Amino acid sequence: MKITLPTSPIANHLENPRWPVLIAGPCSAESEEQLLDTARQLKASQRISYFRAGVWKPRTRPGSFEGMGEVALRWLQTVKAETGLPTAVEVATAEHAELALKHGVDVLWVGARSSANPFSVQEIADSLRGTDVVVLVKNPVNPDLQLWVGALERIHRAGITKLAAIHRGFSAYEQSVYRNEPVWNMAIELKTICPTLPIICDPSHISGRRSLVPLVAQKALDLNMDGLMIEVHCDPSVAKSDAEQQLLPADYAQLIFALQLREVTSSKPELRNELDSYRQQIDLLDDTIFETLSKRMAMSQKIGQYKKDNNLMVLQLNRWEDILEQRSRLAAAMGLSSEFAKRLLVLVHEESINLQTEIMNS
Ligand code: PEP
Ligand code: MN
Repeated sequence: MKITLPTSPIANHLENPRWPVLIAGPCSAESEEQLLDTARQLKASQRISYFRAGVWKPRTRPGSFEGMGEVALRWLQTVKAETGLPTAVEVATAEHAELALKHGVDVLWVGARSSANPFSVQEIADSLRGTDVVVLVKNPVNPDLQLWVGALERIHRAGITKLAAIHRGFSAYEQSVYRNEPVWNMAIELKTICPTLPIICDPSHISGRRSLVPLVAQKALDLNMDGLMIEVHCDPSVAKSDAEQQLLPADYAQLIFALQLREVTSSKPELRNELDSYRQQIDLLDDTIFETLSKRMAMSQKIGQYKKDNNLMVLQLNRWEDILEQRSRLAAAMGLSSEFAKRLLVLVHEESINLQTEIMNS
């Protein structure tokens, strides 16, 4: 299904038009000093299109820091006046949107919790009618492409054409290396059904921890995403929200300078090298294999702990013979050679036994 969301491009304000749009700034606005300090350093990096800060924070549990509210919009005005950086904030209600516009905010984004709720999105959309503001719509917390598209359509029907989507990952029941599991295929599918819509990746909320942010950012660019939103704080150790995932401005600058910009062979996506597209798919599948292996090993460790607690043997021969026999038959039914499946299972089993032995000896 193709949908038509004619969108005008979002200015990247960078000296090289080929660079992705770069949105950076703290998770939350905490004080005027914190905003100015962070913004000045980001400005000096010359790699920032928009300065972001959360003013109203949607928190999972009550009692956490819920944002400074309207006063922070005045701090953002000061940041803009001093650094010249256009600003971006999250809005969750019509009142937020009206206040943000009144204070000269340039970009509004709809957060993941709001975009999952059509009532909230409609309320925001209605409040934006007649304005020319840039609006970014984060994916809903649950992996539902139609819900994401629906939120974009509601904003678009209110007359907003400077529109982009943000892939910030999806919450999952199972534990994973990510805070919010990326579903790259869904972002690619969104691009396919709506080729004019820019898609920005938020590696900070996908990763949940600093060390993973550069890898996710590079991956987003390799998959031809149009921009990045990255959380940066002048002192993440004292951040009032998302302290684990915010980068120091110097680390942000280093990350951006190290990014590899993929050569675009053609401006028309349909003419892009076919081999390239197959390789991208292979890379995605390989990532899935490793993500699954990582979950598999975490489960082995859990079982190892159980065996230790209950004084059971690590190697359970019958169980292993069953696995080998059943899984290699399943693999053969899936078109894989059973020889290859057995070799792979032996490797996985060896690693599993090693991990469990370590637990026994710990
Ligand atoms: C944020 O950007 O700080 C935020 C709350 O994001 P999300 O809506 O993706 O959780
Ligand atoms: Mn955050």
